Amino acid sequence: MSKKTLVIGGGIAGITAAQKIAQNGGEVILIEKEDALGGNFAKLTYTFPVLGDAKSLVSQEVQKVQAAPSIEVLTNTTLTACQGSVGSFSVELKTMNETRQETVGAIIVAAGFHYMEPTAYTEYSYGRSPKVVTSLEFEKMAAENRLPQGNVRVVFVHCVGSRDKAKGYVYCSKICCSYSAKHAIMLKKANPESKAYVFYIDIRALGKGYEEFIRSAMEEYNVRYIRGRVAKVLESEGKLLVRAEDSLMGNPVEVEADLVVLASAMEPPVGSRELANILGIATDEYGFFQDVESNVRPCHSSKPGIFLAGSCTQPMEIASAVAMGGLSASEALAVTR
Ligand SMILES: Cc1cc2nc3c(=O)[nH]c(=O)nc-3n(C[C@H](O)[C@H](O)[C@H](O)COP(=O)(O)OP(=O)(O)OC[C@H]3O[C@@H](n4cnc5c(N)ncnc54)[C@H](O)[C@@H]3O)c2cc1C
Ligand code: SF4
Repeated sequence: MSKKTLVIGGGIAGITAAQKIAQNGGEVILIEKEDALGGNFAKLTYTFPVLGDAKSLVSQEVQKVQAAPSIEVLTNTTLTACQGSVGSFSVELKTMNETRQETVGAIIVAAGFHYMEPTAYTEYSYGRSPKVVTSLEFEKMAAENRLPQGNVRVVFVHCVGSRDKAKGYVYCSKICCSYSAKHAIMLKKANPESKAYVFYIDIRALGKGYEEFIRSAMEEYNVRYIRGRVAKVLESEGKLLVRAEDSLMGNPVEVEADLVVLASAMEPPVGSRELANILGIATDEYGFFQDVESNVRPCHSSKPGIFLAGSCTQPMEIASAVAMGGLSASEALAVTR
């Protein structure tokens, strides 16, 4: 039996799992397909619900992993083959041009999520107008101090690609109500002269302080929430025109805007079905990794010894990804001792 655990994915879920295993005397190989750890967390500026400094939070966690002698970090690395069973999996890892064989007792899949490019939503002018961006692009603009200045209007559009059977996914992406409120607050803090509008279907904010956080966007920062699905975003003479139906008032509504921010769907990580095939585990109908029992064993994949952590199972916020990272670590320790 091998005492090592292979962790696939160096986002906050994988980093947490690796740390917890190491803190409890286990050994870890942590592989990350990109050239740095941190995942999507590292692309954020602030975090809801308390506007934490994302860059500093994530770099502290990355440093702990890099400093731990019992964690081997391999960036630019993917899993190319896996055989065996719980206690003794033979895995093949591809790093740049080299391949390497290892034996591990457990595997944790923490491959995260992909952020949907809303190219199918031509009615929102995404890809046609540089003034229509995704929420992830808004994070980049904020990090680079490029948020619009002066007397500008910014419109935030909820549920782009989520809760949309026709062109997107049926599921709710769970966290975009909260991060759109965060973005509206970030805008108002960076530019108190600006006006922020949020178009929503209904507000979903489950988590301690989340409801209060969104309420503070409305009440303290005067962000205007309009209930209604946006039908069209038109660009004319350098301005955007957002057309929607106010479903509370029953009126059509138009807002002129300088920037439109689309809260796009969180979708399964790229290549999730191929990775699941290599591991011999199940995915759900969308391509997220499937747990065997979501109530009491949310970390168990369909194969003993292979565990799941974070947003590769469903859309989730950082706190849940951290919780799942810790739980998957304890499951991996239980089979590698
Ligand atoms: C616009 C936006 C704003 C957000 N704001 C907040 C916020 O304010 N507060 C909050 O709590 N949450 C926020 N989130 C959510 C947050 O980003 C996620 O909860 C968090 O990143 C999930 O971590 P994770 O480790 O599960 O996945 P990820 O961060 O996606 O990390 C997964 C890692 O696995 C790697 N990987 C993937 N496939 C493989 C493979 N085959 N082999 C090796 N490595 C692989 C990836 O490269 C990546 O580094 C936001 C998300 C978005 C899109
Ligand atoms: S979290 Fe909010 S914005 Fe995101 S899909 Fe669900 S309801 Fe829509």
